[in-house]
Amino acid sequence: MRITSHGQYLYQLTRFPRIFPVNCYLVKEQDGLTLIDAAIPGCEKDILNAARDLGLPVARIILTHAHLDHVGSLDALHALLPAAEILISARDARFLSGDMSLDPTEPQTKLNGAYQKIAARPTRFVANGDRVGSLQVISTPGHTPGHIALFDTRDGSLIAGDAFQTRAGIAVSGVIRPLFPFPAMATWNRPLALGSARKLCGLNPSRLAVGHGDVLEHPIEAIETAIAVAERTFRKEKAYGA
Ligand SMILES: [Zn+2]
Repeated sequence: MRITSHGQYLYQLTRFPRIFPVNCYLVKEQDGLTLIDAAIPGCEKDILNAARDLGLPVARIILTHAHLDHVGSLDALHALLPAAEILISARDARFLSGDMSLDPTEPQTKLNGAYQKIAARPTRFVANGDRVGSLQVISTPGHTPGHIALFDTRDGSLIAGDAFQTRAGIAVSGVIRPLFPFPAMATWNRPLALGSARKLCGLNPSRLAVGHGDVLEHPIEAIETAIAVAERTFRKEKAYGA
């Protein structure tokens, strides 16, 4: 995996950086490392090697959502790190156990993307406003029903999962970038994704780190533009009856 560092605390690990980038992140904390997402299957060795090179243990694994390319190495990591906590929203945890139902209170739009059943059980459910070390949990439904983002309160880094992509140009989840359409195709509900993008913009992040694509420094203008594009795109779709 390609490893790049961003600021004092954040490391991006990328599988297939050139053809189909899949990111996960290590965040330095006082008690060790927080791994954000678990990439595709077969990444466990690379992730643990990166942690070893940083000289810190992986204390916990937090998942932004339950898609395969974010939880793929979770079971293998759990086998190698049985003491590490596993955190996810209660809503997306249901997908990990194979329950693909929608709640009656949720928009009944089709679930998209590949979900993966996982044997390891989460040790803790996280919700909007919770703190995990230095990271604040932000509920950002849309890409999936229980999607979360993590905001580092020390330096304003936003690890946004698939709420945005930056590969092939920044986009809100649900806006198709023709050269990398996959996050948009995997999106569950576009109006909710747009609301979540606005919520993340309101945090005024200093840095944007996503599931697919490079880290963006000083991202506010780019985020605002992406939101404006999403507003126009989704409105047009509605006008065409899509
Ligand atoms: Zn996804």
